[in-house]
Amino acid sequence: MYERVYNFYPGPATLPLPVLEAARDELVNFQSSGMSVMEISHRSKQYEALQNDTADRLKRLLKIGDNYKVLFLQGGASLQFAMVPMNFLTPDKTADYLVTGSFAEKAADEAKYFGQVHTAVNTKEENFRRIPDPAELKFSPNPVYVHLTSNNTIYGTQWHTFPDCGDVPLVADMSSDILSRPFDVKPFGLIYAGAQKNLGPAGVTIVIIREDLLAKANPNLPVMYRYETFVKHNSLYNTPPTFSIYMVWLVLKWLEEQGGVEAIHKRNQEKAALIYDVIDQSGGFYRGHAEKNSRSLMNVTFRLPSTELEEKFVRAATEEGLIGLKGHRSVGGLRASIYNAMSYEGCKALADFMKDFLAKNG
Ligand SMILES: *Cc1c(COP(=O)(O)O)cnc(C)c1O
Repeated sequence: MYERVYNFYPGPATLPLPVLEAARDELVNFQSSGMSVMEISHRSKQYEALQNDTADRLKRLLKIGDNYKVLFLQGGASLQFAMVPMNFLTPDKTADYLVTGSFAEKAADEAKYFGQVHTAVNTKEENFRRIPDPAELKFSPNPVYVHLTSNNTIYGTQWHTFPDCGDVPLVADMSSDILSRPFDVKPFGLIYAGAQKNLGPAGVTIVIIREDLLAKANPNLPVMYRYETFVKHNSLYNTPPTFSIYMVWLVLKWLEEQGGVEAIHKRNQEKAALIYDVIDQSGGFYRGHAEKNSRSLMNVTFRLPSTELEEKFVRAATEEGLIGLKGHRSVGGLRASIYNAMSYEGCKALADFMKDFLAKNG
């Protein structure tokens, strides 16, 4: 019927087939409206209900209280690198950044336009292959927030426990692991995520913001740079990316059908174990980039004995319908991105391919 490949691209990334099919089935006639969801006014009751339901489902799935607002923005996670400090950092104040990857570094660089940036830790010299221990974090005396990247997409590392910063709000870029595992949202003042890895297609950025933080935001900003605008107008100040939000809604419904975040976390652990086990049992043929206790459940990064073998691996995998495995240029080697929507069968196919490739080339 279909010729779907197993798609390991880091983002935009694979989406659940039932989600794509549902979108296809109602593409020209959304919920008996006689119109595509793309053609409906964002001011209509029908659209606003859809958007509100998307926010409600996200809050239910993440078990977050009513003191948080879910906002729908554009500009990707990259705009949030600037928008966070624009709203909360001033020249006389300091924000702390935990630099565990190049997206984290970009976020810190953007903040320098607005105030003092204190790097509480930086693992760049080790090519970001690990998540630091709590004892390594050297916080400044009175930061307005502490920023971290929960999953380092390029390097394949992930914070498994978040640092304890007391009353200082954590701000997290969760672009590549939101909804992949349960976590306690309370220490977080703000969470942002571009949708195109774990939530849906590109075009919408989810921001989850705690009300007490909103009260502290700089009011003297252009209207589209203020979180307050999106809160006050229910993310409908201007035209939101309606189709992308609709797709996120479908993904969230699918996730609920899978049993929610706990269930998907368990499956993500099983999926990642399939691939990490092959790496660990390969006698050094496959070498993981990330240190073992920092390993990500979302992005598995590894090298082979030579770049020639790595190229051969990518070519042979592509022929088998295993797509998008080439690593990021700053790490080299291979990267398998196995977000929520990647099936157990896809990970099994990759693990089997890796064993076979080792047998033939080891
Ligand atoms: C992909 C990614 C980004 C960049 O997102 P854009 O939406 O393209 O701006 C930022 N942070 C992390 C952790 C990512 O994985």
